[in-house]
Amino acid sequence: MTAVTEASLLAAWEAALPRPRRDRALVLAGVVTGVSTDGLQDLPIGAVDAYLLDLREGCFGAMLDCLVDCPGCGEELEANVDVAELRFPPAEEHTREVNVGGRSLVVRALTSRDLLATGDRGSLVRRCLAEGDVTDDVLDLVGNIIDELDPQATPAVELDCPNCRRTWMAPFDIADFVWQEVDRCARRTLHEIHVLAAAYGWREDDVLALTPLRRSYYLQAAGT
Ligand SMILES: [Zn+2]
Repeated sequence: MTAVTEASLLAAWEAALPRPRRDRALVLAGVVTGVSTDGLQDLPIGAVDAYLLDLREGCFGAMLDCLVDCPGCGEELEANVDVAELRFPPAEEHTREVNVGGRSLVVRALTSRDLLATGDRGSLVRRCLAEGDVTDDVLDLVGNIIDELDPQATPAVELDCPNCRRTWMAPFDIADFVWQEVDRCARRTLHEIHVLAAAYGWREDDVLALTPLRRSYYLQAAGT
């Protein structure tokens, strides 16, 4: 694991911003692994998302504050999710031999390269066939097997609504969540650099080198 600094996170945010959604996840995973996006593209989605959880926990802590609408009554709820609730043990197998509709298939887990190539469910399923082909009527069945090979890619958390008492499993998009947080953090950091650079004439590196306490003091003194 590579130590994550504010500067490295800011550089990754800048590199990821113009890229497609899944590419952004690879760039952020690169911050903790030190591996290039090319080197991460062929990992199962869940393996990359596990690195994103490492990044999240290392930079911002283990508790995730989420806003979610209750599917029962529509009430907006605040949910606190522990990173541990989203973690799965590493998968024991990323490929599996199966027999579907009398055909012998070898199915593998979905990778970022697959998602970057196509978002169409049928095409994705067919890309994950290391051997064999399928007819359209069993695409969903094979798609479910692909999901089973990588539970870390499709985590869900159990939530309950204090308003209507409904309990449900809410899907959790790790890549989207972590990106949104990194995006907010990077924009806040840039604003702080702007304020302190304008007030004191400091360079970007000077501001990034400050401890959080000192930066907070100077921001306060600068009138923010
Ligand atoms: Zn409700």
